[in-house]
Amino acid sequence: EPLQIDAWMQSLVDRVSARASAKEITVSLSMPQTVALVEADPLRLEQALINVLDNAVRYTMPGGKVSVEVVQKGDFLYFQVSDSGMGIPRKELPYIWNRLYRVEKSRSRVRGGSGLGLAIVKQVIEAHGGFVSAQSEEGAGTVITLGIPLRSHETTRGERT
Ligand code: ATP
Ligand code: MG
Repeated sequence: EPLQIDAWMQSLVDRVSARASAKEITVSLSMPQTVALVEADPLRLEQALINVLDNAVRYTMPGGKVSVEVVQKGDFLYFQVSDSGMGIPRKELPYIWNRLYRVEKSRSRVRGGSGLGLAIVKQVIEAHGGFVSAQSEEGAGTVITLGIPLRSHETTRGERT
């Protein structure tokens, strides 16, 4: 059954915002007018997005910003999560998707976590026929992009029910 992204996405962001505001981090969401339909397991996709959003909040200093953009382009729907956090050193960037990999263990240990989050994200997204990517600049922030295929190019005009 196809998943209607918009209301689902808003509720995820609301949940994360509540936690982020305790750390004085604002979370914003931008979505297109059109409602995208994807063939996805909502619980698995939710798990993937929550992991990425949790990282964005966890690795960003108080006063920072997290923004979520949902973009439809070609045959794919992209979830892009940007933060104004500590960033990831260029040489470590390729490894963040590996199981148990954590940048600078001492820095991360204080913040908890097991290093499994992004490995799960990659597995879930690839199981949906999608792909993951990361861009980052140390001391400036990180952008994580998850792309999943649209349901046979199909969209409906944004009536929200
Ligand atoms: P958990 O299993 O609880 O998610 P984790 O957050 O350490 O633990 P991952 O989510 O897999 O593990 O992330 C791997 C590592 O990549 C993190 O330890 C952190 O060093 C780095 N990282 C991930 N996301 C970000 C981000 N948005 N900003 C800075 N560093 C990040
Ligand atoms: Mg994590």
